[in-house]
Formats: sequence, C-alpha cells, structure tokens
Amino acid sequence: MFAGGPDIVNSRLKTPLRIRPVKHSFGYMNDLAQTQFFNRFTDSLPGDASGGMLPRQVRNALYSHVRPTPVSAPRLLAWSEEFAAQFGLRKADGTSLEILAGNRVPDGAHPFAARYGGHQFGNWAGQLGDGRAIGLGELKDRSGQLWEFQLKGSGRTPYSRGADGRAVLRSSLREFVCSEAMQALGVPTTRAMSLVTTGDQVVRDMLYDGHPAPEPGAIVCRVAPTFVRFGNFQILEDEPENLKLLADHVIKNHFASLGTPSTEVYLEWFREICRRTAHMIVEWMRVGFVHGVMNTDNMSILGLTIDYGPYGWIDDYDLGWTPNTTDLPGRRYCFGRQAQMALWNCAQLGNALVPLVDERAEELQTGIDEFIRVHDEEYLGMRAQKLGLTTLRDEEGQRLLGRLEELLQSEETDMTLFYRGLAENWRSGAAFPGAIFYGAPPAAHLAKLNEWLKDYRARAATDAVSGVDRATAMDLVNPMYVPRNYLLQEAIDVATAGDTSRLEELMDVLKNPYRVQPGREAFAAKRPDWARDKVGCSTLSCSS
Ligand code: AMP
Ligand code: MG
Repeated sequence: MFAGGPDIVNSRLKTPLRIRPVKHSFGYMNDLAQTQFFNRFTDSLPGDASGGMLPRQVRNALYSHVRPTPVSAPRLLAWSEEFAAQFGLRKADGTSLEILAGNRVPDGAHPFAARYGGHQFGNWAGQLGDGRAIGLGELKDRSGQLWEFQLKGSGRTPYSRGADGRAVLRSSLREFVCSEAMQALGVPTTRAMSLVTTGDQVVRDMLYDGHPAPEPGAIVCRVAPTFVRFGNFQILEDEPENLKLLADHVIKNHFASLGTPSTEVYLEWFREICRRTAHMIVEWMRVGFVHGVMNTDNMSILGLTIDYGPYGWIDDYDLGWTPNTTDLPGRRYCFGRQAQMALWNCAQLGNALVPLVDERAEELQTGIDEFIRVHDEEYLGMRAQKLGLTTLRDEEGQRLLGRLEELLQSEETDMTLFYRGLAENWRSGAAFPGAIFYGAPPAAHLAKLNEWLKDYRARAATDAVSGVDRATAMDLVNPMYVPRNYLLQEAIDVATAGDTSRLEELMDVLKNPYRVQPGREAFAAKRPDWARDKVGCSTLSCSS
C-alpha cells in the first residue's frame, strides 16, 4: 500500500476500479518502512515453522521462518538511487535503515530462509539453503512488478551449518558493485539496493592459512523477481508433491506466458530455463566475466547472474583463468569452461524435474539441445558483433576467429582494451596502443597481429558498413569500463577506512560502461603490475 490508501477503490461498479501509483507523481518518494510487503512465496508454499535458528536438516518444507539477527550500529554505505526510484523509494534512513540492517522486520513481511541443495564442484553436497540470506518478501515497483528483497549477511538460519550467518564488507561491496555494473552492461543479473555496514566485526581466515582476523561486517539488500535456484528443485528428490508445488509457483509467477502447468508446459519451461542460462553465459563471455563458483545452488531459475563471490573480470585474455583459489586445482569454473559447466548444471536440473514429466522424461533432452543451439548461435553472433562483423559462421569466419583466439592468448593481451582499440582503429586508423599488452610482445607477434588485422579488414570490407559506423556499433557491445578486481580492491581499502568517495565514483563510472568518460581514464586502465598477484586483485578465496 502506498500513502493515500488501498489500491482498490470501492465504487458503485460491480468490478471496483483499481488504481496504481502514478509514475511521476510529483516525484514523491516512499519510505521503505511504510511500503507494503507481499509474500507470495511464503503465502502459497509449505514452510518449516519448527522454530529457532539451530542448524538442522529440514524436510517437507520449502523454507523456514526466520528473523534477522540485530546488529549494533548500522550505517548506509551505498544506495542504488536509480533502482530505488523504480520503486519510488527514498534513500534509507531511520526505520528503513534499521530494516535494511535486519534490526527491524517491516510490518506485513514474513522473513524466511529458503531450503535448497546443490552440486558443489561436481559433487552432490546435500542440503545447503540460505545460510546467511533472509528474504523479507516482495515490493511492487512503479510498473506493478513484484521484486523480492533479501538481506545477505543478516544472521544465522537453520541452514547456516557451523557458520555465522554474516558477511564481510569486502565481499558485500563486491556484490553490491558488480550486481549494478552487470545491469548497466546489459547482462541478466540480480540487483542490489543497499550496502550497510553493521558496526560489528566478523572473523574470517581470508587466505585459509590459519590466520583468522576480525573484519567489518556488512549486509547487502539484494533484489530479484525471485531467488529460486536450481538447487531448490534438486533438494526435493523425495518430495514429489513439493516439487510440483514449487514448479507451479515459479511458472505461475515468473513464467506466466507458458500457461497453466502441464507436462507439456513443464517441458517447455525447462527448455526456456536452458535457453536463458545459455544466453546468460554468452553475455558473461562478451564482457569477460568469470563467476568462479558455478555450483547448482548458485544458478538462478530465471537465468540471472546470482551470488557474486570470488568472481573476476578477464584482464589478459586467458580461457583457463579462474578467479577462485578453491577452483585452482581443477579450474572447473574457468573462463572458457563456463558454458560447459552451465550445461552440466542444466542437466542436473533436468534430472531433478524428472518426476514432473514422468513418462515423457526422455524429452527433457530437448532442453539440453536447446541450450546447445542457443549457445552456438548466440556465441558466434556475439563474437561477430564484438568485431563489428555481420557473421563468422562460414569457414573463413571461423578461421579468422580461431587465429584471433590464438593471438589473444599467446601474448598476454587485455581483452577489454583490445576490442576498444580495434574500434578506435576503424575510427582513426590508430594502431593498437602498447597498453593492450601486459609486457612487450616480440616483433614476430606484432607482425602476426598485423597480418590478422589485414585479413579482418578485408573481410569487413565485404560488409556494407562504414568504418565509423562499425566502430560505433562495436563500442555498444564492447565495454570500456568493467569492475576489474583491482579497482574493487582499491574501493574496498578506502571504504574500510571510512571513505566512500572511491566507491561512489566507481559506481558512477560503471553506470555508463560503454561510453567514453573524459577524465576517468584511470578506471579503464589495464591491471597494474602491483595488482597481478595481490590478494583480492587477481584471485580470491571463497572466504566472505
Ligand atoms: P556460497 O558458496 O556463498 O554460494 O555458499 C554456499 C552455502 O554456504 C550456502 O548455503 C550459503 O548460505 C552458505 N554460507 C556461506 N557463508 C556462510 C556464512 N557465513 N554463514 C552461514 N552460511 C553460509
Ligand atoms: Mg550461494
């Protein structure tokens, strides 16, 4: 409900007139504390009310009722102004800040922790669940769409196992910034509304080397239409009724265009999840994002990037690079394997959905096939777009792409700077600046690159686009500014000391990732040498 009364106006009509908030209603902004919460998830699905936060194996329920654990001194460190405006929300202070810190549960909200399981690094891990994230319920944005608000780092739940239910500032800041940066880049993602420091210390052994130390704690308010993951379905292996309830709930509320659930609809729904997941991965590859922990509990049923942990951005183009130190032995989740791992995850989801489609289970294969079809099509299209070409589908195109892959990897070449430099080459004829390389490449390499450039330009000449138009189109798909790990680490270092100016500037730069922003060249610079092996700047542990 918004100030001014209920959204159904009683009248003498049989069907009452319904009103909605007017988009630009005098720029009036609501207070989060006065906004109506909706609870479709907890209202319509079975929950576990056995109470308490004691770690336990939960059965026959899709979530547990919980309450956030209060913190001592909440302070708002960052706020997503534009996203908040979509809800008509005023910057949080007073009671609404208390809500975002978990110190107060808003009227009408039914906080919960979702039950889910997952495959971690290829092995079934059993029950995981929201161990430190608590869903508050949903808010309506100005277009009438409902979004779930979730507090990450807000205390223990029945799914916390031995852990503390908290999150540290460094990982929370990284999640906050990256969610909004991905949105601006056009990559499907969950969102972030606020970043709050708690005033409490959280102990973490950051390097897993037996040196635990206190760090400032923080809470991110994450927002998405739903946070349901593949793992929410996987955990229901022995609960077919609940599996159907959850599937029907997700289809009805988030895939409404598919119609009333039936075997046919379940199959089409699975195909759609596979398509969306394939699309998401192509988008990651386009911008150079490496998730780092693509476990099935970190795969959104909506095909959104979810759970920003030890993720990273490609500096030098390296298909084998993984930002996650835990992933180093096998590099399961490295840059070049993300599509394969996402497909593996889709197959695990398919397995979990078998009871829904029973005698037609074989047809789940069509979802896997859809993933491969969409990925192949979109991936090649994306690579062509990045080069400003219409297609790379033919044999010559594939050869050109193959040679580029080799060139980019044989000498450390910054992916982001390479594509921006290529567009600049079309615009002004300027040669690649030395800055695209890490270290000076040998003359033979430069000669090979020039040879490739010649062939690339010859191919482009067969496309009916002018060089300048081509450069403009390329700049729309090749970002100039991405939240490179070292940039985040700099923002973390000063924010930890209480200065948020760097964080604010970084957020501002990342709002327009494709547009040249004069005076902000530093944010587009390649990773400096000092950051190559510094913790947080190259690779990260899962400790968060
Ligand atoms: P992640 O690797 O962050 O996706 O987390 C995997 C699982 O561990 C999820 O069930 C999380 O809720 C849980 N988890 C991670 N960190 C904590 C923590 N500090 N306290 C409680 N649960 C946690
Ligand atoms: Mg997770």
